[in-house]
Parts: sequence; C-alpha cells; structure tokens
Amino acid sequence: RIPDVPSQSTKMKVYIRIRPLNSRELEMGNRSIVKLVDDRMLVFDPKEDDQPFFFHGVKQRMRDITKKQNKEMQFVFDRVFDARSENENVYAGSICEILPSLLEGYNCSVFVYGATGAGKTHTMLGNDTSPGIIYLTMRSLYSEIEQLKEEKHFDIGISYLEVYNENVHDLLNPSSGSLHLREDSVNGVIVAGMKLVQIVDASHLFELLRQGNSNRTQHPTDANAESSRSHAVFQVFIKMQVRDSEQVQIVKLSMIDLAGSERGAATNCKGMRFKEGSNINKSLLALGNCINNLADGVKHIPYRDSKLTRLLKDSLGGNCQTVMIACVGPTVLSYEDTYNTLKYAARARTI
Ligand code: ADP
Ligand code: MG
Repeated sequence: RIPDVPSQSTKMKVYIRIRPLNSRELEMGNRSIVKLVDDRMLVFDPKEDDQPFFFHGVKQRMRDITKKQNKEMQFVFDRVFDARSENENVYAGSICEILPSLLEGYNCSVFVYGATGAGKTHTMLGNDTSPGIIYLTMRSLYSEIEQLKEEKHFDIGISYLEVYNENVHDLLNPSSGSLHLREDSVNGVIVAGMKLVQIVDASHLFELLRQGNSNRTQHPTDANAESSRSHAVFQVFIKMQVRDSEQVQIVKLSMIDLAGSERGAATNCKGMRFKEGSNINKSLLALGNCINNLADGVKHIPYRDSKLTRLLKDSLGGNCQTVMIACVGPTVLSYEDTYNTLKYAARARTI
C-alpha cells in the first residue's frame, strides 16, 4: 500500500556547492564573491571590507573605483556546502534524506545545475579517490535494500541516457542511435529501445558509468575546452514486491548532470555550435519554465517543450522528491554565472 503522502515534504530541496579555487584563480588572486553567513545563508558579492582577501598571506587592496556598488544579496538555501566539502558531505547532507521516500514508492530526482566548470560532473561522478553522488547513492540504496530483503523482493535496473541537440542517446548502447520517447497512460514516459541493465555489484556500476561517460558527446568550444553541452541522465528503476503479495510497485530515481547553464552568447558559438547552443537552451529553458510554473502553482506545466522535460515528466513536481544541487565558482571570474545560478536556485526553492 502506498501512503498518501511521503514521509518527507515534497518541496524541492535546493543546495549550493561552492567549488574550491582552481589553479588559475589561485594565481590571479581575485576577490571572492560568495560569503557564507552560516551553513544555510550566503551573501553574494559582499562588501570588500567585510571580507579582506588574503593572497599568499598578504591582504589584498585591489579596489576598483570604476566598479559598481557591491550587490550584497542574501540568499537562503536548504544548505550551503563550502569549498572544503567533499562529495561524501554533499551526499550525506542532501540526497541521503530522500532515499526513504524512494523506497516508500515516490519517484525522486537529483539535478546538478551550474555553468561549465562549476563542479557538476565532479559532484555527480567524482573520481576514484572521491566517488560522486551517483555511486554514494547506489551504495546506500543497496545496503538499504539488503535490510528490507525479507519483506520485499527487489529488481533493479539502470539506464544512462544523454540528451544532446534535442536527441536522446543511450550511453550504454551507443550504436542504437537516436531514441524516441513515447507516452502511455499506464507506464508514463517510455524511451523506445533503451537498454536497462541489471547491476551485479559496485564495481559493475563503476564500469558502466565509465563506459557510459566515454560515450558522452564532448565538443570543445572557444570558451572552455571541457565544456559539456549535453545533459546526462542516469536512472534507476526499482521494482518492489511485498513477499506473498501480487502487488508490484515501480519507482524511479533520476540523477541528471545538466549541460552548462552559461548563456550561448558567452561561448561565441557559430554554425553547428550555435545550433547546439540554442537546443541546449531549449532543454534548460523548458526545465526553467517547468520550475517556474510549479513554483507559481500554475496548472499547466510545459513538460512537452523539450526532450529533457518530457523524459522527466513523472519525476518533477507532484508527489516527487526533487533535489537540486547548484554548483558555483568562488571568485569574480565567475561573477555572472554564479549570480545567475544563485537566482535560478532560489527560484527553484519556492516549489
Ligand atoms: P562542470 O561539470 O560543471 O563543467 P567539473 O565538475 O568538470 O565542472 O569541474 C571543473 C574542474 O574543477 C574539474 O577539473 C574538477 O575536477 C574540478 N572540481 C570541481 N569541483 C571540485 C571540488 N569540489 N573539489 C575539487 N575539484 C573540483
Ligand atoms: Mg561536466
């Protein structure tokens, strides 16, 4: 039996993760643009006097009198993870809380949002020494399921898709080409021909992620060689059946590494890249419009406006648990991107 409401509130949980300084930022010694007040509140573009910037232990006085007045905008989120936080901390302070709802029968989704270079893929996938939130989530999920095994029977399958240029590709079966989305009143959104893989153990998951990532579309652009213009959608389908009962329940966990949120204009795109740019805007724009309408309580949610939102129709809003981790750069070099990301994230938090 499905409870009427999940034990957790279905309000979207929004977290900010501040990336540590990279070597270029360390070298340039630019002013920091985010100041933590506590673990939930930050000030964007604080007054410089409030926060002297120390570079190699020396207080910097780099006041630019032509500069506009500092914005000094306060933002409150469900939690702000500072530059010292590890993937483990981010996992434990965010997604860990929604896992019980998943096993109660509610679809859950986790988005990482932010400009290129802000730390989305590091958060989602991490590396060998610091595995990302996909791995950490799956690890907990398996241990949770292990404990419920007596009561319920579980079948788990995963898929890994990419939305690129408004085409859906299967990262676990790249030869299948562009896949079609279908909708059916019983099963919801279906990706025709998508491969659903049963995972044997953790090392198998690692191998699948590695394999899937090597199939991701990566096109270096002028703005950033590591720019990723695609959305990567990792999904876990869990079929649960209470032992000695006929009733079967299917839930879905989606984890999405969104394409860079920076504006197309900033990347100096032309021709093919320009088309990519406008299509990426289409999916991110549609996601933003869905979020806006959900936040305003508008009845019509424009899920159909893009491939990404169609794919996630049953995982966004309604009785779903949604988590957004917005990644931001720490210095004035990412001023516009960080500002836009904080505004977007603050908006999402009103859902
Ligand atoms: P995005 O996916 O948003 O474009 P990445 O995750 O690729 O950004 O991060 C850009 C660079 O910064 C990468 O080299 C990544 O390893 C590094 N990086 C990002 N976040 C962190 C972090 N929290 N700790 C250490 N390195 C990080
Ligand atoms: Mg990335």
